[in-house]
Amino acid sequence: MNYDVIVIGSGVVGSALAHSVAREGLSVAVLDAKSEPPNSYRHLSINKKSRQFLEQIEVWQNIKNSAFPYDQIKVWDQEGTGFIDFDATEAGLSNLGYIVREGDIQKALIDSFKKSDIQAFWDHSLEGINITDDRIICETNKESFEGKIIIGSDGVNSQVRNLSKISSRSWSYNQTAIVANFESSAKDNCIRQTFTSIGPLALLPMNSKEMTMIWSIDDEYAYKFLAMTDLEFTSEVKKYFGEHIEDLKLSSKRQNFPLHHLSAKTFAKNRVFLVGDSAHHIHPLAGLGLNAGIGDVDCLSELIKSNGLDQINKITSSYNRSRIPVNLGLAASMEAFKRGFGQKNIWVRLLRNSAFNIANELTPLKKKFMKLATEL
Ligand SMILES: Cc1cc2nc3c(=O)[nH]c(=O)nc-3n(C[C@H](O)[C@H](O)[C@H](O)COP(=O)(O)OP(=O)(O)OC[C@H]3O[C@@H](n4cnc5c(N)ncnc54)[C@H](O)[C@@H]3O)c2cc1C
Repeated sequence: MNYDVIVIGSGVVGSALAHSVAREGLSVAVLDAKSEPPNSYRHLSINKKSRQFLEQIEVWQNIKNSAFPYDQIKVWDQEGTGFIDFDATEAGLSNLGYIVREGDIQKALIDSFKKSDIQAFWDHSLEGINITDDRIICETNKESFEGKIIIGSDGVNSQVRNLSKISSRSWSYNQTAIVANFESSAKDNCIRQTFTSIGPLALLPMNSKEMTMIWSIDDEYAYKFLAMTDLEFTSEVKKYFGEHIEDLKLSSKRQNFPLHHLSAKTFAKNRVFLVGDSAHHIHPLAGLGLNAGIGDVDCLSELIKSNGLDQINKITSSYNRSRIPVNLGLAASMEAFKRGFGQKNIWVRLLRNSAFNIANELTPLKKKFMKLATEL
């Protein structure tokens, strides 16, 4: 089977790329190892720039009714006196972003495949790649596909990256994120995150009655927390969160994600393009991983649109030039936050807390943080 673009991986990033380039008239196949379309019940924050891109490709209208806007972010440190907050009104915005169920974005994108004539192949796992002068051949567990380019949107353990021999740097954060939803009576539109002694704990509003929690916990404690009863776990969340939260009641299973960093050494070569987690995987403490992936999609689809697939070399070099530095900068910021807040040394903690408070007072620095959070 012959296509212009073969997309491996139908997560939000791959599906958005498929839809965006198919709208330009290219023939697209999306292959996924899953036996049916994904429908994740995880909730994620998406920023202003991602929302604008989803609007531009005309899928936001099918997501916005279930998306919950947040207009404030408050971050503080339990051990010191550091505090910083971001407010939409300060930035002249109506909100800073939305909390969305990942499955709702996946569904809106996959539903749009029919409109843009994208062919989806479930239960197709990539097993081999052969590159000739002008084509690329993908072998799966079922059949072969031929295309002009291949998109690796197959997540952090990308086969596209491995089979095309793109090397990467990776290391473990030695933390596991525990994700769970709670019923709660908190009635504002604020994301709250506190840096506890065992890792950052964030509560994100999903609607006026529920919150989703992401707690990245040092591995030595994470397994203990996973083994607790629901009541014991809820009481630990309340204790570590430190602020009075009324009526916190666990309303979902606890999911866990081992956390590590990964950066591919190049994002594109020889007709192969990596987007999203296959190219870069960061700590979730700022909720920016998916936003960075949508940024890749926006950039790559714009390059394909303006150059056409005959100019592969130009697209390859421009894509690497624009996305590698952005993502390396983001990874460095996450690393600084993670290491800074993981410090047990009192002097480092004092310095860090002063920096936090100064940042909260100095508007230009806050504006920089705000830009990173909303416009990455
Ligand atoms: C706890 C946690 C909280 C997070 N919160 C946020 C947040 O609030 N905001 C945010 O922006 N980011 C957040 N992130 C990051 C975000 O979840 C990821 O960056 C994003 O989901 C990556 O999407 P993707 O489409 O690149 O990959 P994935 O969603 O991993 O999709 C990969 C797809 O490829 C398929 N696949 C894999 N291998 C093969 C193969 N060999 N052949 C065919 N198909 C294959 C898989 O089946 C899957 O469907 C969070 C991450 C974690 C761990």
